[in-house]
Amino acid sequence: MRVILASSEVVPFAKTGGLADVAGVLPRELEQLGHEISIFLPAYQSVDRKLHGIKSSGISFEIQIGDRLVAGNLLETVLPESQVKVFLVEQPGYFNRDTFYGQAGKDFSDNCERFTFFCRAVLESLIQMGIAPDLIHCNDWQTGLIPAFLKKNYNHHSCFEATRTLITIHNLAYQGLFDYEKMAVTGMSAEYFNWRQVEFFGKLSLLKTGIVFADMINTVSPTYAREIREPEQGCGLEGVLQERSGQLIGILNGIDAADWNPATDPLLEENFSSDFDIRVGNPGKLACKQALQKEANLKQDTETPLIGIVGRLASQKGWSLILPVMEEFLENINAQWIVLGTGDPSYHHQLESLQQKYPNKLGLTLGFSNEFAHRIEAGSDMFLMPSQYEPCGLNQMYSMAYGTVPIVRRTGGLADTVVNATHETCEYGTANGFSFDEFTEEALRTAVKSALQMYNHYRPLWNQLMQTGMKRDWSWRRSAKQYDELYRRTVQR
Ligand code: ADP
Repeated sequence: MRVILASSEVVPFAKTGGLADVAGVLPRELEQLGHEISIFLPAYQSVDRKLHGIKSSGISFEIQIGDRLVAGNLLETVLPESQVKVFLVEQPGYFNRDTFYGQAGKDFSDNCERFTFFCRAVLESLIQMGIAPDLIHCNDWQTGLIPAFLKKNYNHHSCFEATRTLITIHNLAYQGLFDYEKMAVTGMSAEYFNWRQVEFFGKLSLLKTGIVFADMINTVSPTYAREIREPEQGCGLEGVLQERSGQLIGILNGIDAADWNPATDPLLEENFSSDFDIRVGNPGKLACKQALQKEANLKQDTETPLIGIVGRLASQKGWSLILPVMEEFLENINAQWIVLGTGDPSYHHQLESLQQKYPNKLGLTLGFSNEFAHRIEAGSDMFLMPSQYEPCGLNQMYSMAYGTVPIVRRTGGLADTVVNATHETCEYGTANGFSFDEFTEEALRTAVKSALQMYNHYRPLWNQLMQTGMKRDWSWRRSAKQYDELYRRTVQR
């Protein structure tokens, strides 16, 4: 099947979150399953042209954006370790900026122009190259216009006669909302501005546009696919998702097993695998723990439980619960904490003051470091992720692959991956972590205490949890098979 995947982020070229991992790894697996797949993303300033062997494709276009004609070029390269072609839409005025979507907590005011341009550039490029895709796989609001354009503006092009569209929702909270005036920017007829199509409470919603016009919709875990049809997690789109529930499914993301494998990871102090005696523990992992303690300026003591957190400092990730519970534990309980993250300045300040107060117990890095993220996943005993909502979540899967026991709130993909340790699940050997339901400090506190209790007093059982998590297949191969089926289903529609 000839597939085009369009995304605003793709590893290794441009990444702020999990979307980039999906867009950069899934295509490699789908290629293995026999699909001819190409990727489109914007050519941001930060994409290293030299490093990635990016060159001109010879294709250029002029696109009507409101009353302006905007020119752009298409660059090209290939996805590492694959034949997957990668096309990058170059438009310096739109994409030569320090960040992808906004600055100082504010979205760029011309995001509608930028991503309208991107969506149209994908279609114009395909026409110029004479490529007639069977399927265009869109991702999130940045590509939500493509399904609408195909049905309404480009439906006369022979290239797209048989093209079907799929949109993957990675996070429903980011919707691409714009004032009505931006309708003119998109070139969509004003008649679509109604609540059944592109309007969302008086605004233009590019995510809703994608959901309404795409042939199929999926999100990144089965539980999240159910949750977003209800008001609590539906972000106001529950009605339209309910209406399209026959075309909405959930497929759990995978992890890049080439990158995230403790047995081969070159970033670790020592490599280790799931092959260890649960009565003795995992010596390779312990070496990683000591190295991590040293790197974070904490006491090198293998017996002190070490709790890691990596991720965006955003309210979604449960920081309103983590901060007070962490402070309480820092004051009263023998455990070390290591946090790596960046985001909301108010969380930066609160974490900094905690670190100043408890320098011997909290290692803090405010920033983005893939290398350090690997070492935290490998060296920690536990990983905390009490998200308010979590479409899929990658970090809990990285943790389990690295023998780090996750403590999570039972929502979205966290509910689909973490099996809470109870008498039954421990007996059946299915337990791989700790989870709780209520989004409260009390529930989080209880879960962390249960984990510490097991770590401190029932070490062989703890080691069994570690091993169960490490042995499960978290790779993309499993998810790619489900995407393969979904693609077939979409094209048959
Ligand atoms: P989300 O997509 O909501 O940010 P996920 O858990 O799905 O959350 O994916 C986050 C990805 O970004 C993971 O690969 C994680 O390791 C990475 N990540 C997030 N923050 C940082 C950071 N500060 N440093 C390094 N990696 C980070």
